[in-house]
Amino acid sequence: MEISLKGKTAIVTGAGRGIGRAVARMLAQCGANIVINDIPGSQDALDAQKELEQMGAKTLVCLGDVRSYADAEKMVKETLDKFKSVDILVNNAGITRDGLLMRMSEADWDDVLDINLKGAFNTTKAVIRPMSKQKGGAIVNMASIVGVTGNAGQVNYASSKAGLIGLTKSVAKEYASRNIRVNAVAPGFIKSKMTDVLSEEVKESYFKSIPLGRFGEAEDIAKTVLYLVSDLSLYITGQVIHIDGGLVM
Ligand code: NAD
Repeated sequence: MEISLKGKTAIVTGAGRGIGRAVARMLAQCGANIVINDIPGSQDALDAQKELEQMGAKTLVCLGDVRSYADAEKMVKETLDKFKSVDILVNNAGITRDGLLMRMSEADWDDVLDINLKGAFNTTKAVIRPMSKQKGGAIVNMASIVGVTGNAGQVNYASSKAGLIGLTKSVAKEYASRNIRVNAVAPGFIKSKMTDVLSEEVKESYFKSIPLGRFGEAEDIAKTVLYLVSDLSLYITGQVIHIDGGLVM
């Protein structure tokens, strides 16, 4: 069965690189129009646009800070002006500012909560009216397994991701009657620049704790996001899907 998102428009926040870029690429491959969001001045976003356009996708770059509701509203307006609908939102933009509680500054707490949690609130609030009018939509929030398990050194990040899970379930309950489905994915260890610099020894020690014995790829996350925004998951809402090689069961 072929998954088609033809005629659908997806906003992906933080789509310039990493997991967001892989998600944007995957949704574009299935025919969706892609709105690429990233921080103002992002060259990565322009590179992503070039890549997706070369694949034949229709795209729009909307640079803006997810912390700003005004930026989120503007992005949704520009999306509707160009593509006439907004069918999919992937709240992917996120940052870390790790440190033990005693040494964590108020700014480190605020920055992480503002981008990871309030950012998703802003963009979700901005799309919910047009999605309600359309009587349909799919939202996926990028949580993390540490939002479920907690993690030493990540009080701010784990709290933001746990909050995102609460936001996911609450919006899912509020808007199910409008046929808007809201789910979260919770990645574990995903290959990135950060994991690339780990020594083989350290990697091996991590692999021992992961039942499937490896780090995940950004594409592993993108495939699950695709499933959650497609017609394959029409009866799924309010769920948190762990994509972690079995690390947390
Ligand atoms: P990344 O740092 O490679 O990419 C994040 C993107 O978000 C960047 O392009 C960045 O510019 C953008 N961004 C940051 N602040 C923004 C803002 N205020 N407004 C708009 N865009 C902003 O990160 P990644 O590893 O690809 O992670 C993506 C998401 O997945 C994050 O939410 C992260 O918490 C989550 N996650 C990642 C992992 C992992 O192992 N990489 C594991 C669990 C969860």
